[in-house]
Amino acid sequence: MMPGALAHDWRALNNLIDHYGQRQPIPCRDGYIEPSRTWTSEKSAERDAAAEACGDCPALTQCRDYGITHPEESGVYGGLTDIQRRNPSHNRVKEGQ
Ligand code: SF4
Repeated sequence: MMPGALAHDWRALNNLIDHYGQRQPIPCRDGYIEPSRTWTSEKSAERDAAAEACGDCPALTQCRDYGITHPEESGVYGGLTDIQRRNPSHNRVKEGQ
């Protein structure tokens, strides 16, 4: 079970993604890359492809904020892999997106 703050933030992010998803596709939900589990793949090349696909997501900024706030989560959030989210120097490289 998720800790309280994590669960709260996760629900808020999912509600936002649901909202945006009514108007346009969400890459990790709508089949940009098959299978969608590439966002949590063990293979770095697949995670990199997922991170690239996040660039088309309307929830990119909020999802990235969630992923940086919760580095314990695994996988890609907001165009950043878990390694990038846990390392501030990697975050700076992606800030221009
Ligand atoms: S930014 Fe990426 S991981 Fe986050 S909701 Fe969008 S597609 Fe999914």
